[in-house]
Amino acid sequence: MKFCDLSLQYNTYKSEIDHAISEVLQSSQFINGSSIQTLEKELSDYVGVKHAITCSSGTDALLLSLMAKGIEPGDEVICPAFSFIASASMISLLGATPIFVDIAPTDYNIDVTQIEAHITSRTKGIIAVSLYGQCPDMDAINTIANRHGLFVIEDAAQSFGASYKGLKSCALSELAVTSFFPAKPLGCYGDGGAIFTNNDQLANNLRMLRSHGQTQRYRHEKIGINGRMDTIQASILSVKLKHFDQEVKNRQEAAQLYSEIIGDAVLLPEILEERSSVWAQYTIAVENRDQLINALTKKGIPTSIHYPTPLPMQKAFDGHPQQMASYKISELLSETVVSLPMHGLISKDEVEFVAETVVNALK
Ligand SMILES: *Cc1c(COP(=O)(O)O)cnc(C)c1O
Repeated sequence: MKFCDLSLQYNTYKSEIDHAISEVLQSSQFINGSSIQTLEKELSDYVGVKHAITCSSGTDALLLSLMAKGIEPGDEVICPAFSFIASASMISLLGATPIFVDIAPTDYNIDVTQIEAHITSRTKGIIAVSLYGQCPDMDAINTIANRHGLFVIEDAAQSFGASYKGLKSCALSELAVTSFFPAKPLGCYGDGGAIFTNNDQLANNLRMLRSHGQTQRYRHEKIGINGRMDTIQASILSVKLKHFDQEVKNRQEAAQLYSEIIGDAVLLPEILEERSSVWAQYTIAVENRDQLINALTKKGIPTSIHYPTPLPMQKAFDGHPQQMASYKISELLSETVVSLPMHGLISKDEVEFVAETVVNALK
């Protein structure tokens, strides 16, 4: 059994994907080929946002967004203490300070009741991460941001395709980023990402920053990066986007089946009202995590830990002013969470087998 079966996915869509790749090879427009514009239109239609700007990864999408917002040394940006490191590290890379806020015990996303206590005169924005595939309380986050004149970036690397109050994830704040890393809900076959905004000026700036701050060939208005997506990746994503809703449905059915079989025995994030999750991860929390992982490994079931260390305790943030602060929920989850196999084509039989093995191991 595979944790995330990408070879099954490739073989299922093989003829369409091979055809798309070979068209790019024939055109030999490996950078800025027509598949990029096609995909950007498809992504913006899918999410319901005016501009989709493809880029080289979710990490670069975060970096470019923070650059477009003018983040510089001395600034502070608020983010959750429990996430993948990129949500915080791109703030540091620009010389600014990530200010960590604990997550809520309900949805495992940033605890909105603790945000305002962390705002100072140096705070410029909030990065709101949607952990495991469910959006945080974006209305509350946008309200706080408006009250204090802050920007909001939705880090939707795990929630592309999820919904919140009738809107799609990536359409919930001025700027949103996502990742097409192969194992994400919508993944390409290498690195890729995208940024979403309705703001024309921001979109122009982001496009410029993505390509060395260039306005015309070899005319550079700003200091930028090489942050473009490859044409081949865009052509693959266009194929996979056609099958994406079906895969999301399958993930949601798999998650429901998991929860029916093991839900009472473990701690799970609550899916809150008017939200849906795309289940980037199906993650349970148990007291005897090592014992459970061993029992699953014996049956050939792979697992993964998202994440073993809260961000403020990562060595990379040595010397951070909040390193000694306490993050109760982040710490508890880092010691107890384990993710079970989950992907867009997982079968009912596989889910039942894993879930029953978990139930037996916890007896
Ligand atoms: C995966 C991920 C990223 C980074 O995406 P890459 O495409 O791997 O650079 C950023 N934020 C979160 C929450 C992620 O899960």
